[in-house]
Amino acid sequence: MSKAKPTYEMLEKKIELLESEIKLKNSFLEMLFDAIPNPIFYKDKDGVYKHCNEAFSKTILGIPKAEIIGKTLYDFSELIPKKNADIYYEKDQELMNKYGTQFYEATVKCSDSISRHYNFYKATFLSESKEALGIVGVMLDISEHKKVLKELDEKNEKLNALSITDPLTELYNRRYFEEILKKHFSRLDRAKQKFAFMMIDIDFFKDYNDSLGHLQGDEILKKISIVLKESFHRPTDYVFRLGGEEFGILYNYTDSGHALKGAQTLIKKVEKLKIESANKTVSDFITISAGLVVIEYLDYQHLSTKELYDKVDKLLYVSKNSGRNKLSYEIISQ
Ligand code: GH3
Ligand code: MG
Ligand code: MG
Repeated sequence: MSKAKPTYEMLEKKIELLESEIKLKNSFLEMLFDAIPNPIFYKDKDGVYKHCNEAFSKTILGIPKAEIIGKTLYDFSELIPKKNADIYYEKDQELMNKYGTQFYEATVKCSDSISRHYNFYKATFLSESKEALGIVGVMLDISEHKKVLKELDEKNEKLNALSITDPLTELYNRRYFEEILKKHFSRLDRAKQKFAFMMIDIDFFKDYNDSLGHLQGDEILKKISIVLKESFHRPTDYVFRLGGEEFGILYNYTDSGHALKGAQTLIKKVEKLKIESANKTVSDFITISAGLVVIEYLDYQHLSTKELYDKVDKLLYVSKNSGRNKLSYEIISQ
């Protein structure tokens, strides 16, 4: 028995059914799109918007969907500056030409005039015959993430600064000294940069503390630190508090005469602060003694960072034992 041919009415009924099914699926998809908080759009191969969701129309352009569909980037000159439209257009073209997916980050001025950072995830939409019909795009707001990262970077920077700073004098601390001294050695190897290392110790500081108290002693440490910092303030100068009332200075120079002069001037400057000393054997005022090694040539086989430190330390004690308020130095040359 042959199957009865459907009547015209039957076909009409079937089409009606299919149409209402398609409508239902479309409205479901639209509802799903609109429920997604990320802006989503779909453009055809000529860059004409075919679909977008509520998030895109409200957050990005701030106009109803109906005013977006059927338009291109260049139809919103008041909302999308030409310069930006050109960038997006170029990105779209790049994707249309090579197919597949595309990812980039961009700052977008939204409908509320706030600029937000977005990650763009885009992909070509292909026909059954693998022809690119258009581009679908999803935008992810990463502004908060960026803000948190920036805050974290700033906090890390502060923490790092704290970890290399002596809290009383705000000079670099001993830990940082070890690090920088090592770097100086390796830098010298590469660039043959000459440098000097000076160690300073306040004279009769115990007597000062004993007669005026520890707090007053702290004030002197701060005052002397300021003089050290002011005297050695170039970007290549480093001033450290090595411990107690001992300081270290690493500095570059071009002429060894200048390297010596800098150290001698510093000793005079401290005495000129005219801080009355508790022990007037050497001077009426607080003074410092220093040891200095000026390195014009460094033979790594014969001088390590530890040996340099010991050498300068010994020179400092030569200054102490030969009357204080003075400098003892050595110039290491080839
Ligand atoms: P010299 O001329 O031989 O260096 O004599 P001096 O008294 O300076 O040396 P000494 O090593 O006998 O004493 C160092 C003193 O430095 C002892 C201590 O009271 C003082 N000192 C170390 N650290 C601090 C600090 O953080 N604050 C204060 N106020 N004093 C400190
Ligand atoms: Mg000391
Ligand atoms: Mg001392």
